[in-house]
Amino acid sequence: MRNAEEIWTLVDAKKAAFEALSDRIWDAPEIAYTEFAAVAEHTEMLRAQGFRVTENVAGIPTAVMGEAGDEGPVIAILGEYDALPGLSQEAGVAEPKPLPGSGLGHGCGHNLLGAASLLAATAVKDWLDANGIKGRVRYYGCPAEEGGAAKTFMVREGAFKDVDIAITWHPMHFMAVNDARSLANTRIDFTFTGRSSHAAAAPHLGRSALDAVELMNVGVNYMREHMPSDARIHYAYLDAGGVAPNVVQGRATVRHLIRARDLGQLRALIGRVRKIADGAALMTETTVEARVHSAVSNLVGNTPLEQAMQANMERLGPPPFDDEDRKFADAIRATLSDEDIAAPYKRSGLKPRRDQPLADSVLPLGQIGEPMMGSTDVGDVSWVVPLVQADGPTCAVGTPFHSWQLTAQGKTPMAKKGMVHVAKVMAATALDALRDGSLIAAARADLAERTRDMPYACPLPEEVKPPVQPRRA
Ligand SMILES: [Zn+2]
Repeated sequence: MRNAEEIWTLVDAKKAAFEALSDRIWDAPEIAYTEFAAVAEHTEMLRAQGFRVTENVAGIPTAVMGEAGDEGPVIAILGEYDALPGLSQEAGVAEPKPLPGSGLGHGCGHNLLGAASLLAATAVKDWLDANGIKGRVRYYGCPAEEGGAAKTFMVREGAFKDVDIAITWHPMHFMAVNDARSLANTRIDFTFTGRSSHAAAAPHLGRSALDAVELMNVGVNYMREHMPSDARIHYAYLDAGGVAPNVVQGRATVRHLIRARDLGQLRALIGRVRKIADGAALMTETTVEARVHSAVSNLVGNTPLEQAMQANMERLGPPPFDDEDRKFADAIRATLSDEDIAAPYKRSGLKPRRDQPLADSVLPLGQIGEPMMGSTDVGDVSWVVPLVQADGPTCAVGTPFHSWQLTAQGKTPMAKKGMVHVAKVMAATALDALRDGSLIAAARADLAERTRDMPYACPLPEEVKPPVQPRRA
């Protein structure tokens, strides 16, 4: 199809600058809500490419939006650029070698994620300019995907309210349309307040908040047997009440992270966990206060957009990996267990292959095996705007995410080939929507049907604000 080839040429024409952008983001990893260097880089690139820039999106200093084009539908392409703690690693080596410094690292490939999305948006802008077509393309630079739920706050503030469709991607093992399976989740802090006293001299006067936390956790652990099998609950002690065993702990806090298949199931589970907390307070004569720390929704799929993206992937084929790429991917694979390598195959319902260091085909639509149990704040956008997400192959098949191996591959030629390739897929899918209004109409109808019985309600209570961080001096 001529139009697809034209947009691919536009992607290739500018790819070098965006590969360099990805490398600079990799070189300066920043975690949730501290992405000041990354957002500055992305803002500068938006300006250099002629986008109209809105900074401080939804009151978040590390979020940015750039728009180009006039009138017509609005196509949003979403990017991310946050890193992770404890995943510092030298680039391009197949052994664990943390770099000196902060310990932060791009262990989820978000350096590639943001750069590819911005490259796709730029190619669509160039195509609109060249063809004089009515329509707008936006790039959303979204911070704090890792545990920060920035997109959930952005949705709540209406940042996507006039968007017709949204497109995004994530680095992955295979080239595929993402199957839109992720869990809704919330983190809730339960703070128990009792009464301290001398644990030996006056134990009868004490009411232990630590006892309450422990009883709550026991209750939740018993509940596990009686909850949906794909739901998850994990907890961590934020404050165990101090280090003195001879003081009855008057105050203690535990954070529960609750995940469920969708928002409805999540709400039900939250209700049950709250009852257990109340029960623990009753048993220990303490009081409990629950504070929602963060929340994201599950992903909602979109059949018309998934079909359009699949057609573009099949037209384009897998990335042009070469023997050098496969050699390095094999070296990375040598550091992985058989279980690591089998995991992405199982998730896609495929038989594990030892002879496939890198993706060499496009997976068919709906190639689904075992569920993935992660969560993403892309979910909230997908409830309010028809959204499609690509999986772009950027690493050795089997590489666990959030690992030194993933960080090590973030600047390699193979990662960049995958990143440019997925930019082409996203740009071509945006063009499909810009050229044919019926795709947008079908996508909207699909979303309306999927959410008819359970309209979106933001899982974040109104009083919870994004935990924005001060700019470093
Ligand atoms: Zn990620």
